[in-house]
Amino acid sequence: MAGHVRYAGGFRWRGVDVRAYKPEGTHFRDVTRQVLFASDSGGRSELRYFEVAPGGHTTLERHQHVHQVLILRGRGSALLADGVAEVAPFDLVAVPPRTWHQFRAADDEALGFLCLVDAERDRPERPSEADLAELRRDPAAAAFLRV
Ligand code: MN
Repeated sequence: MAGHVRYAGGFRWRGVDVRAYKPEGTHFRDVTRQVLFASDSGGRSELRYFEVAPGGHTTLERHQHVHQVLILRGRGSALLADGVAEVAPFDLVAVPPRTWHQFRAADDEALGFLCLVDAERDRPERPSEADLAELRRDPAAAAFLRV
């Protein structure tokens, strides 16, 4: 049936490509992206599934658009403005506008999560050295950050 995509097991969906997280860069490690509901389907949102391999991490970044995240698999941690949280399946993480954020998988387990975003959204901003220095004033953030 049109509009129905069958789950293929193993956090894969039939006909959905497993893509690079971002086209290029050294500011992330071992992350894949699957677009489950793309912006060209007419909605105002996109739903993506990201998977971070053990020891990997997403980019430290901020932007005006928000992220609404549902953890689906594994274990890891998330950095937001007010600290670092351990995350586990079915936890929710809301990333507010203009908030530095980064997700990391545990060293021995992958971290997979759904992320809902606006289809039309601003580009992420990377931290300056001054931004990093400010973030590192929090010891938990200093220990967490990977850039
Ligand atoms: Mn982001």
